Amino acid sequence: MARIVMKFGGTSVADLDRIHNVARHVKREIDNGHEVAVVVSAMAGKTNELVGWAQAIPRVTGAPSPLYDAREYDAIVASGEQVSSGLLAIALQSIGVDARSWQGWQIPIRTDNAHGAARILDIEGAEITRRMGLGQVAVVTGFQGLAPDNRIATLGRGGSDTSAVAVAAALKADRCDIYTDVDGVYTTDPRIEPKARRLARISFEEMLELASQGAKVLQVRSVELAMVHKVRTFVRSSFEDPDAPGMGDFDNPPGTLICDEEEIVEQQVVTGIAYAKDEAQISLRRVADRPGVSAGIFGPLAEANINVDMIVQNVSEDGSRTDITFTVPTGDLEKAVSALEKARDTVGFDAIQSEAGLVKVSVIGIGMRSHAGVAATAFKALADKGINIRAITTSEIKISILIDSAYAELAVRTLHSVYGLDRQ
Ligand code: ASP
Ligand code: MG
Repeated sequence: MARIVMKFGGTSVADLDRIHNVARHVKREIDNGHEVAVVVSAMAGKTNELVGWAQAIPRVTGAPSPLYDAREYDAIVASGEQVSSGLLAIALQSIGVDARSWQGWQIPIRTDNAHGAARILDIEGAEITRRMGLGQVAVVTGFQGLAPDNRIATLGRGGSDTSAVAVAAALKADRCDIYTDVDGVYTTDPRIEPKARRLARISFEEMLELASQGAKVLQVRSVELAMVHKVRTFVRSSFEDPDAPGMGDFDNPPGTLICDEEEIVEQQVVTGIAYAKDEAQISLRRVADRPGVSAGIFGPLAEANINVDMIVQNVSEDGSRTDITFTVPTGDLEKAVSALEKARDTVGFDAIQSEAGLVKVSVIGIGMRSHAGVAATAFKALADKGINIRAITTSEIKISILIDSAYAELAVRTLHSVYGLDRQ
C-alpha cells in the first residue's frame, strides 16, 4: 500500500465524461489498496474565462489595471477549482468511492499575502490524513490557498501543479502523479521533432531547467518544490483507459518519473532540448564602463517587474565605453525600453537597439558537469546549418542559445539529433 497524490489538469476534467474518466483512475488506485488524495484544476478554459471577466471590469469602469484589486481577482478566478472539485467528488461517490471536496481555506493551505501570485507556506494535513486512513478521498482545489488576511489567494497560472506537489509533501505521499494531456516528458517537443522520445526518468535539476527554458509540462515552481522536498513526481496521461494493462502498476506505470539524480542509472550527457519563443533582445550601445552601471540599468528593470534573462557585456575597447546586450520577454519590451529611456541620463549610453520575436533554444543535461565539449558540439552543428547565434548563456547543466525565430525548428531538430536523442 502506498500513499498517492493524484493531480488532474484542466483538459483532464474538461467535461463531465472526462471527470467520470478521472474518477475511474482514482477508483483504480483505491481498489489497489492505496491511500489517495486528489488535486484538481478548473475545467479547461474556465480560468481563462474568469480572468477575462476580471480584466474586462476595469476596462468598463476605467480603473487603472486588471489587477488593481488582486484580492477580488483571486475571489473570481479561484471559483473554477471549486466547481471541478465538487463535480469530481460526486463522480467518485457515484461509482462507490467515498470522497469529499476541500477548498484551500478549509484545509487550510496557508499562503503568503501576494494575491494573484501567492506562495504556499504551510498545509495542515492532519484531517485529510485521518480520512485517507478511513478510505475517504480528499478532492482538493488546486491553485488556491488562504492568505494571512483571511482571504483566498491564488498561486499564479498553472499553480495547481504546485498545489499538488505541496499537498504530496505535506501528506508525506510516496508519489505525486500529475495526470495531464501528454503521456510524459519528452526529449523535446514532439510537434517539432517527431523522433522525440519519452523519458523514463529525469532528474529534478534537469526538469527545472526544462520547465524554466520553455517546456510547458509543469509549472516551474512545482518542480522547485518537488526538488526541495524530494517529492517523486510522475507525469502521465489521463487520456488512457484507466483500466488498461499496466496503468495501476505502482512501480512501473507508463509516464516519466521526476526524481533524484541518484535514482537515474543510465545518465545521458544531454537529456533534452527546450525552446522558448517570444524573446526580445535589447542592446545598449556605448555604455559608460564604470562601477554601478549594471546596477543602474537592471535596477529600474527589476523595479518595473521585468524578468531579464541572458546578459552579455562586451569588453570595452578603449576602457571607457562598452555595449551591453540582454533579453526580456517580447511582451515586456516596450515597458523595458521606456524604463531604460528614463534611466538614460543617470546611466549614460548612446543608443538603445531592440528586436522582438527571437527564440531561445536550450540544451539540458546533468551529464554536462562531467563532459567537456558539449557546447562546442552545439555551436558546430548550428554553424553547419548556417544558423547564426546572437547570444549564449550557460549554467552547469544547460547551454542556451538565442537565434532568429525562422531557424527555431531547424535548430531544435539539429541539436536533438547531434546529441543522439533520436536514437533509442
Ligand atoms: N486553473 C489554473 C490555471 O488555469 C491553475 C491550473 O490549471 O494549474 O492557471
Ligand atoms: Mg497545467
